[in-house]
Amino acid sequence: MRASMIKVLRRKVRASGGFTLKIVVVGAGIIGVTTAYELAERGHQVTLLDKREGAGLETSYANGGQIGASEVAPWAGPEVPGLVLRWLGRADAPFRLRLKADPDQWIWLMRFLTRCRASARAQRILPNLALALLTRARMDAIAAQTESESSPVAFDESRKGILQIFHHAHAFKEAAANIETMRRAGLEQTMLSARECVDLEPALGPAFQKGEIAGGIHCPSDRSGDAQKFTVRLAAEVQRKGVAFIAGAEVTGFETRGDRITGVRTRAWLFGADAVVLAAGVGTVRLAHMAGVRIPVYPVKGYSVTLPAAGDVAPRVSLTDEARKIVISRLGDRLRTAGTAEVGGYDTDLEMPRARSVLDATVDLFPQMGEVAGSAEFWTGLRPMSSDGSPIIGQAGRFTNLYLNTGHGSLGWTLGAGSAAALADAICGTRPQLDLTPFGIKRFFLT
Ligand SMILES: Cc1cc2nc3c(=O)[nH]c(=O)nc-3n(C[C@H](O)[C@H](O)[C@H](O)COP(=O)(O)OP(=O)(O)OC[C@H]3O[C@@H](n4cnc5c(N)ncnc54)[C@H](O)[C@@H]3O)c2cc1C
Repeated sequence: MRASMIKVLRRKVRASGGFTLKIVVVGAGIIGVTTAYELAERGHQVTLLDKREGAGLETSYANGGQIGASEVAPWAGPEVPGLVLRWLGRADAPFRLRLKADPDQWIWLMRFLTRCRASARAQRILPNLALALLTRARMDAIAAQTESESSPVAFDESRKGILQIFHHAHAFKEAAANIETMRRAGLEQTMLSARECVDLEPALGPAFQKGEIAGGIHCPSDRSGDAQKFTVRLAAEVQRKGVAFIAGAEVTGFETRGDRITGVRTRAWLFGADAVVLAAGVGTVRLAHMAGVRIPVYPVKGYSVTLPAAGDVAPRVSLTDEARKIVISRLGDRLRTAGTAEVGGYDTDLEMPRARSVLDATVDLFPQMGEVAGSAEFWTGLRPMSSDGSPIIGQAGRFTNLYLNTGHGSLGWTLGAGSAAALADAICGTRPQLDLTPFGIKRFFLT
């Protein structure tokens, strides 16, 4: 090994608190891969396990693409119970509740309903925002580091911001009330008239002419991009850094001694571990349970549609349509729209009426996209949603070396890289870049 390389490694290990740990990260979605990256950066010996045949094949596969610091408010809010009732029984409703004979679902729902208050929502906005801003900083650091050491992690990134559009003046006014709070926390947003929305994103012309836009809020510093491309490229990068990525390895249990986990079991192997991170998306619930920890995370199913996008017919600015309940991102020569939320268990069957409702909303907003509707690619995935709308990050349960990085719900791409960095600091005992207290599992014991 070259002397310069040894120096770099020594510096990293010193930064990590002085010793190299053997760390197993379970799950190679956006959360697990960024966690593996941050731990490898700090000089640790990391093994990354995933049950699938590669990285980014579950919920991180085809999400809405928004890396939206302006979008961090939890879904639970005072309007939600009314909306669910209004849409009850409609197959294509943006929100759907399918009650199961599953106590985990009922407990989660009860917790979620207690969060449907303006004050509860407000309580989570600033912690989530801090994590979103850390995510931006870490993504910039990853870009700089990969560019200098190998090749940049390209993922059809766009930096034209996110524009939220509102159909009704009262919804616009309500949303605008938060701008000042966000500004004080470091996020600039601008209120735009309907005309200004079209000036920023000319593809909104038809909606403007139909009188469908009451106004918009633009966050110029927000970004968008393809989470799966990023996850796959970063998974290759961490392997270059020495992480052992083992695909097709489903974790089935743990070896323990006293208050520590000593190994992670798959069907074929036992991986020795000084520390274990569970970042397995919705699969974390079962894994955590095996380790004696119950987490208030439940799948919330969503759909996305990807269309070919040429020229100016498709928008270039990432959009959130508050009335249609969809998010839209331009990913290079594709347009991705995502939406719908269904609390109905773990099935990933693609139901065409629900998938079509996302396509129809896209074509309704951008009528010319109807010409390419026949090429639509439909996808469905399960958001690992915590009941309060913030992820669960940090040590959990009676095993002192067991860590969680999960529950990111609709915000895994927005909060992923920051969550990984903050958790890596906690595991290494180095100076934290972010206070993890608001994200600890203990918060659920208090509410
Ligand atoms: C329709 C939709 C739109 C979305 N839009 C956005 C958006 O615009 N912006 C945003 O920020 N977020 C968005 N999200 C949310 C975001 O995609 C998720 O929060 C994120 O992908 C979760 O990442 P993850 O790594 O936790 O989970 P996953 O990507 O699911 O990764 C978990 C991994 O763990 C593996 N695993 C599970 N169990 C085991 C086991 N026992 N052993 C080994 N491996 C296991 C799985 O195979 C999987 O690869 C959206 C989600 C959906 C569904």
